[in-house]
Amino acid sequence: MSVAQSLEPSLTWRDAQRLAADVARRNPFATAVYGVPRGGVAVAALTGLPIYTPPWASVTPDRLAAEAPDGLLVVDDLVDSGRTAEPYVSAGLRFDAMFRKPTSPPEYAPLAEPAEGWITFPWENETGPEDAVVRLLQWIGEDPSREGLVDTPRRVVKAFHEMTAGLRQDPYSVLGTVFNESSDEMVVVRGIRFSSMCEHHLLPFTGTAAVGYVPRERVIGLSKIPRLVEVFAKRPQVQERMTNQIAETLIAALDPKGVGVVVKAHHSCMGCRGVRQPDAEMITSSMLGCMRHDPAARQELLRLM
Ligand code: ZN
Repeated sequence: MSVAQSLEPSLTWRDAQRLAADVARRNPFATAVYGVPRGGVAVAALTGLPIYTPPWASVTPDRLAAEAPDGLLVVDDLVDSGRTAEPYVSAGLRFDAMFRKPTSPPEYAPLAEPAEGWITFPWENETGPEDAVVRLLQWIGEDPSREGLVDTPRRVVKAFHEMTAGLRQDPYSVLGTVFNESSDEMVVVRGIRFSSMCEHHLLPFTGTAAVGYVPRERVIGLSKIPRLVEVFAKRPQVQERMTNQIAETLIAALDPKGVGVVVKAHHSCMGCRGVRQPDAEMITSSMLGCMRHDPAARQELLRLM
């Protein structure tokens, strides 16, 4: 079993058959189905409806709309960004799918089952995300079967699983026990090393975080602060959001008088591509409560950091 499969149960043929029957049921007008390659072809077959096979060498949505029989339903396995569905719907064809992402545009397959996380369909081979890496290697002109690359897809999937571990962790539970302590002395943890993943390029950004807060009545163990940084770092991120998430979680969990977070990082996507500035450092901060409103508190924080 691959790493990715262990995250989500894969869909069985029986599940797929039931979901395809639901697609057929909610489109009673359909007299025939056309499946969008590749996953939609399997969905079409499972609906039990007559399959429309276009006789042309290549199929375009416009030609389907113009020449296919009335009552044609176009089906796919999953609507994600909507980019696949869009040309069929624009051409005036009826479109449905087994699943849709909660974030998919609502006009495509609105009645499809919501898909949380990664779904492995029974018609995909055992290594869905590993296949994606093979495709990427082929696309850059490499030979995925040569010795140095043959295990790369497995390693990449494992690395992505590890680098996104924070998606599967609850930031509040890593904070552990919250102690009642009527201290209002500023607490600062600095030099917290992290490595995160830029969500625009899926490349690493690495650096340090400094976190400080002034308690009101509640404190946490100091070792929990680096763990909180880790939870937000280990997911696709933008540095600004990561900085805010750390600060806002501490506000919500501890109701402190104030929180300040400063993050400094080097972004690989700025170093190895684009503007090629590997030494450029990006600094973000989030100051809440007294750190925002009280200049003396902010000064003390920045001095300690
Ligand atoms: Zn980037």
